Amino acid sequence: MEFKEVAQTFERLERTSERLELISILASLFSKADSSNVHMIVYLLQGRVSAPYTGIEIGLGEKLVEEAISRAFGVERGEVEKLYKELGDLGLVAEKLASNKKQMTLFSEPLTLERVYNNFYRIATASGQGVVDKKVRLLADLLKDASPLEARYIVRIPIGRLRLGIGDATILEALAVAKLGDRVYREDLERAYNYVSDLGYVARVLFEKGLEGIREVKPVLGIPIRPALAQRASSLEEIMQRMGGECAAEAKYDGFRLQIHRDGDKVWIFSRRMENMTGLFPDITEAVLRQVKAEKVIFEGEAIAYNEETGEFYPFQVTIQRKRKYGVEKAAEEYPLKLFAFDVMYVEGEDVMDKPYKERRKILEEIIEKGETIELSERIIARGVKELRDFFESCVERGLEGIMAKSLKSPYIAGARKWAWIKYKRVMKSQLSDTIDVVIVGYYKGRGQRAKLGIGGVLAAVYDPKTDTFKTVAKVGSGFTEEQFVELKRLLDEIAIPHKHPRVVSKLEADVWVEPKYVITVLADEITRSPNHTAGWDGERGLALRFPRAVSFVREDKGPEDATTEEELIEMYRQQKHVKVEEGEDSY
Ligand code: ATP
Repeated sequence: MEFKEVAQTFERLERTSERLELISILASLFSKADSSNVHMIVYLLQGRVSAPYTGIEIGLGEKLVEEAISRAFGVERGEVEKLYKELGDLGLVAEKLASNKKQMTLFSEPLTLERVYNNFYRIATASGQGVVDKKVRLLADLLKDASPLEARYIVRIPIGRLRLGIGDATILEALAVAKLGDRVYREDLERAYNYVSDLGYVARVLFEKGLEGIREVKPVLGIPIRPALAQRASSLEEIMQRMGGECAAEAKYDGFRLQIHRDGDKVWIFSRRMENMTGLFPDITEAVLRQVKAEKVIFEGEAIAYNEETGEFYPFQVTIQRKRKYGVEKAAEEYPLKLFAFDVMYVEGEDVMDKPYKERRKILEEIIEKGETIELSERIIARGVKELRDFFESCVERGLEGIMAKSLKSPYIAGARKWAWIKYKRVMKSQLSDTIDVVIVGYYKGRGQRAKLGIGGVLAAVYDPKTDTFKTVAKVGSGFTEEQFVELKRLLDEIAIPHKHPRVVSKLEADVWVEPKYVITVLADEITRSPNHTAGWDGERGLALRFPRAVSFVREDKGPEDATTEEELIEMYRQQKHVKVEEGEDSY
């Protein structure tokens, strides 16, 4: 396939602000692909060459890209820098230089998708002596033969400025339309994707084996499964009611969720976001080889740093900081980790995700041998609210975050937030029992004091997985320090777009729209009804956060689709009303 097709599609995607149009533009590109190259399009659309779990990233610094532009078009570096200052986007710089050049050269070889992808793949995996030069050469090689439009995107991909904001669900829907003729098949594709979190893999199976093949997709060792997620409840009574009078309850550890794969001597460790973190956990890798009595296995647990002397657990922040601050080896010594295994998905070649929790837990108990590092999560079988409350209180007393109630009969539901798992935490001081993770979709320039910073607040949204869109819920202007505002503006300007993103549903206008990319955690006093926000829209009003304030800066561990969902927000609103015993009719 000619790369021109891809570049033209990117341009059309950039222009649209309609989600349905987005799907149809993408589907029309996919319908021109075949099983040998569809994965290339899937990855490039997200500015990648491989699934996130592989850790293969193109990531070139701007300086190297400037160097490649300078070499490809035979202009001085100074000239490139000057144009960059003028145009504010290296993609546009390359486009301009390519159009100057095109007037001089008549013939050049048209770029193919394959060539572009392969060069990027080589850039991402290059190593050894002269690696920097090699990367610059590979990029310049593409730029030399690129049309102006192609040059724009070839430059934006390696610096992560594609700004298309195309999420996984949108890609799956477009693939379903292109190959199966109907978006309803997105569900089948999603099921496969939940098993193997690799869009390229799913696309290839679809193109090679059709719907049949997709329905047969099973977990693969070395490719992370998308994690099961928990709902939240407002009371232990509610949990018991939903669970039908009996459930398992496990201690909820405030650590780091890890999914562990083992195939003989080989161990992989993936984060909640399915990034490969094996290198960061030599202590756990070793413990897996020692303590797990299964050769081929996928299981999950929560890792948490603890103080050997006092037996106390450290909070999440300390657990992750241990890596950054102390380096892997030293951290393992000073802050040893414990891994509390809580589920198993695959054992000795068999997918056990469809087995009920009770049976999976039994398998887990059989395969984890007693030892220092890996333990089973503490759990009870609760029959009735009293048993649940006693367990919850004993967990909280010991400094744990709360409990996880789990339905005894449920399968492992990958990639979805279902009532099979319900979290119940210590109540926080504010009225809302939990924080909310929101996606920034735009920002406001700020008045008064803030005007000099150029940013006074952000427009924030929750995620609706059904439509794969972001619906606004608050303007967040407090909780950031001045330095954080400055940094935030810099980050947001990099992903600014000229109009509302097609996946954003908003009644408000932002001063500057951005690609939905960054997640922040906010705390609010309560959730109220509001005609201005689109989250939880009932035909007249939506839901809004009252007095929202940021309690985190941009979360590195969450992508936009990991934000609080619209459904969760509605649920939190309901629970809050339940607590407050509000009067009056409501549609929820
Ligand atoms: P989520 O992971 O549901 O998106 P979150 O990242 O904000 O939400 P929490 O709301 O605190 O995290 O709760 C869910 C997380 O709790 C799980 O993802 C897992 O990391 C952790 N956890 C701790 N103990 C357990 C346990 N026993 N069983 C399952 N998960 C547990």
